[in-house]
Amino acid sequence: MIRIAENALQQVRDHGAQAYPEECCGMMLGKDLDGARTIEAVLPVPNVREGNRRRRFLISPQDYVEAEKTAAARGMDLLGFYHSHPDHPAAPSTYDTEHALPWFTYLIVSVIQGNPGEVTAWTLRENRERFDQKAIIITAAAGVLQNINRKEQ
Ligand SMILES: [Zn+2]
Repeated sequence: MIRIAENALQQVRDHGAQAYPEECCGMMLGKDLDGARTIEAVLPVPNVREGNRRRRFLISPQDYVEAEKTAAARGMDLLGFYHSHPDHPAAPSTYDTEHALPWFTYLIVSVIQGNPGEVTAWTLRENRERFDQKAIIITAAAGVLQNINRKEQ
């Protein structure tokens, strides 16, 4: 089970709609207290995947480092990643399974014809064979973070 702040979840849904028909992606920051995980903020980042961004996403190493710095500066941890599935269900693909890391939380939002729909949360097993789905509990809104270091935009 994971908790996510209402406005952070809304940001994920909005980002999915904006990026449609391509996949959006971003990082999720928050606190992990003995495994009780609360996502308090999300950082939208550009999908830097070359080629098929409708079915794939890639987060740049620079954005990853910036997210870790932002999290540390706010007393939070980088807890995971979100991305969208344009016109596909909110279930991890084979590609997602092959490119995920254990421990992190993966949030997937299905965006059907531009409209954000189902949102699901997953963690990869330690043996990396498959994801386990986690229940999502929506909590009251926390602070919203803006895009990090988007100098080019
Ligand atoms: Zn995916």
